[in-house]
Amino acid sequence: MFSFLADKLDNTFRKLRGLGKISEKNISDALKDIRVALLEADVEFSVAREFIAHVKEQAMGTEVLKSIKPGEQIVKIFRDEIAELLGGDVATLDLTDPARILVVGLNGAGKTTTSAKLALRLKKEGRRPLLVACDLIRPAAIDQLATLAKQIDVPVFTPAPGEKDVVRVAREALQWAKTQDGTVIIFDTAGRQEVDEELIGELKRLNDYIDPRETLLVVDAATGQQAVQVACTFNNAVGITGIVMTKLDGDARGGAALSMRSVTGKPIKFAGEGEKLDQFGPFVPDRLADRILG
Ligand code: GDP
Repeated sequence: MFSFLADKLDNTFRKLRGLGKISEKNISDALKDIRVALLEADVEFSVAREFIAHVKEQAMGTEVLKSIKPGEQIVKIFRDEIAELLGGDVATLDLTDPARILVVGLNGAGKTTTSAKLALRLKKEGRRPLLVACDLIRPAAIDQLATLAKQIDVPVFTPAPGEKDVVRVAREALQWAKTQDGTVIIFDTAGRQEVDEELIGELKRLNDYIDPRETLLVVDAATGQQAVQVACTFNNAVGITGIVMTKLDGDARGGAALSMRSVTGKPIKFAGEGEKLDQFGPFVPDRLADRILG
């Protein structure tokens, strides 16, 4: 991700850096390029507008214009604002006891994979994760989670065949968890093709029953502004604590990641960067901002 923006802006940054003296026109030209690039990357319109305004305000400052390397300074302002837009600091998880994490999202976003990836990561940190399959819509999802759990050697609770009631599954899973030596329970839930009342109703019931510390929404980075809309809808309906953005290894232009925090007010906590279970880690705004500078 972000190679699109890096390619688009490479020339703009090179020009800026090469200037010994900088005029307001130089800045306006660069900002115009940046604005176009952000919109082409599918950054939400108002987010792009505010971003440009922030960068402009700082870049026009006399300290910048009079500095020895003004172009370099402006590139740095841009970079720091991008890191801020991506969320600033690395977000953490609340894992105070009883640590329960509900993983939600649309079909295909990467919920089941992410549940296992997160379990593996927590395990490597010395915690004892447990996995619970609450996807009663797609029986294959239960098998998928069970298979992944086996691969990473994490205990998994699977519902009885034909079970239809997610809250009953959650209740049984919490009973089961008492017999396991776990410190954090991750619940993988069912998705749908799109957000509908049935999905929201189910997630609300689960959320109320489980009372999780974290409700993580999994979104596919490649879906652009749609991912941001989905996040708003989930947040309004069930209240999320953070976002996991998957498929950053694909050709996503980065618009979803750049708009997400501003529009939803929720941090992107983790990033999936491949199908393998270890291709996953914290979402690090600073590191990603550097990628745009190429
Ligand atoms: P779910 O329907 O939300 O549970 O989605 P799955 O976990 O089944 O994932 C859907 C597909 O996306 C699978 O083929 C996963 O291997 C793939 N996937 C998940 N996360 C990533 C990622 O970060 N990068 C890539 N390239 N593929 C991913």
